[in-house]
Formats: sequence, C-alpha cells, structure tokens
Amino acid sequence: MAGEIRNLTESEKKVYSRNILLPEVGEAGQAKLLQSRVLVAGLGGLGSPALLYLAAAGVGEIGLADCDTVDFSNLQRQILHGRGDVGRHKVDSAVDSITRLNPDVRLNPHKTALDAENAAAIIEPYDFIIEATDNFESKFLINDTCVRLGKAFSHAGVLGTFAQTMTVVPGKCPCYRCVFEDVPPAGTYETADRAGVLGPVAGAMGAIQATETIKYLLGTGGLLVGRLLTWEAMEMSFREVSLRTDRRCAVCRSAGAPT
Ligand SMILES: [Zn+2]
Repeated sequence: MAGEIRNLTESEKKVYSRNILLPEVGEAGQAKLLQSRVLVAGLGGLGSPALLYLAAAGVGEIGLADCDTVDFSNLQRQILHGRGDVGRHKVDSAVDSITRLNPDVRLNPHKTALDAENAAAIIEPYDFIIEATDNFESKFLINDTCVRLGKAFSHAGVLGTFAQTMTVVPGKCPCYRCVFEDVPPAGTYETADRAGVLGPVAGAMGAIQATETIKYLLGTGGLLVGRLLTWEAMEMSFREVSLRTDRRCAVCRSAGAPT
C-alpha cells in the first residue's frame, strides 16, 4: 500500500470500471488495491472465494499459503479446484485458477503450512492477512504473529451449517486470543472431516473476508472489529457478539496493546 498512487492504464479502467464507479473506490482506490499485498493462508472452503474475489477486484499481489493437495472430498466447497486438480498441490491449482481469472495479479506461492519458524517471515511483507485455515493451531499462530507484527487480518471459521468471522486490527481491538484464549484440548471439538461443512456457508464467510480486506486496504467503511459475527444457516440467523480486550491476553500485552 506504500508509495505514490499511480495512474490507471486504459485497460485497468475498463476491467475495474464497476469498482471505480463506487464512490468508496474511485480511480485512486483502485490504484491502492493494485498496489496492495494480501496473504491468503489456507486455500480451502474459505480461502477459495476470498482469493477469487480479491484477484477479481485487482489486488496487485497475493500470497497463497497451503501445504495440502486437492482431495475429492474438498471439491463440494473448495471452488478454486476442479476434478482434474485432484492430487495436485492446492497452491498450483490455485495459481492456475487465478491466472485464468486475472493474469495481472502477481502470485507468491508458499507451499507450506505456517509454523512457528516461518510464520513471521511469510506474513511480514503483506498489508493484510486472510486467516482461512481449518485448525486451531494455525488460527492461534496467525493471530499471535499478526498481533506481534501489527498486521491486520480477518479470521473466519466454519463447521457444519455454522460460521463465525471477525477482523483484528492489532492495538485497536480485541484479538482472536482475547476471545478464544487457547487451542482447545484434542477431542473436545468437532472437525469438518467428521462433522461436514455446507459449501456455501464457507463461501459466504470467504466473501465477507474479501470484503473486509478491500475495506481495510481502501481505509473506508466500518470494519468487523470488536465484534464477532456468527451465522447459523439453517435458521438463517445472524448474530453479533460484542468483544472486549482481555487484559490477561499474553500476545496483546507483549505487543503493547492498550488494556
Ligand atoms: Zn489479545
């Protein structure tokens, strides 16, 4: 996002005309998006729609992080990948999908899971992070690393027909650890492998994550900070829970966040 705002080319004005028409975007906002860098961590049910929308919107540089290969059981919700991609690395399959959609986006492949050794180096160059992983260890690791580095990110989680999402801007609002404390003990929670996931429920959350990203990059609108949005799709009931910074949160304290 840094640096001088450049002028759009004629081709960019055509491709992004429906963004540019929005008063919240305009040509200056589109130029900002084109000069922005976003990391999508997890290329599954949440990351698929988030990545597709960010690439279509013209985010200039996108990092793709995943360690997995495409499985038949992924395809009912992970719409970046098709039947012919089964067995391929998800990062390779995502690069092909995004190149078809918008060849102007610069893609940085990270064929690895984020871990304590590599997380800071992978996250550091990006302006915003999409946390679209499917396990608590990764969710806490991304939260802790982003808070320490001062990087804003969007969290989402989905299971069955239930989903939740929140945005974290470090130092300005509660973090994921303030709300959920720590990785729950093994055996005390369900996973998509056992309980299933309704594809469009993940899709809607990924679309919300992309929307939050665009708003953050543009510096406009009201972000989903200090509140957790939950959705039970069977009842079609959305709820919002107000969140508070936990004074005992080790990661917020170490990052010097106000308590
Ligand atoms: Zn915290």
